[in-house]
Amino acid sequence: MTKQTFATALNCMDGRTQEPVIDLIKKDANVTFVDMITYPGMDGFLANANEDDLKQIFRMIDISVEKHGSQHIYIVGHFDCAGNPVSEEQHKEDIRKAVQRIKERYSDLTVKGIWVGNTWTAEIL
Ligand SMILES: [Zn+2]
Repeated sequence: MTKQTFATALNCMDGRTQEPVIDLIKKDANVTFVDMITYPGMDGFLANANEDDLKQIFRMIDISVEKHGSQHIYIVGHFDCAGNPVSEEQHKEDIRKAVQRIKERYSDLTVKGIWVGNTWTAEIL
């Protein structure tokens, strides 16, 4: 069996984003599995979360990092998001801000943003 390697995604709960995000991360991080942490409008949630809310997210990320050895975290925003119904520009701003907040805590890991646009294709920001 090939070695199991993991990356971590902070994604929206929206079913339309799951497969494109997993496919992109597997290629980008060269891993076999993606641990998926979801919340409606995750990008906006992370950009605006208070410290207590962030702690809950950190607890989930820590399991992926400590138990699965993930070295890559991805933060996803997408088109037509019901949980964070803002413009594409604002999504990208929220993703950028969320990446900075997650980087502050996980400075040894790579932290990247992903945008899933109106063709449901995922791209690294
Ligand atoms: Zn969404």
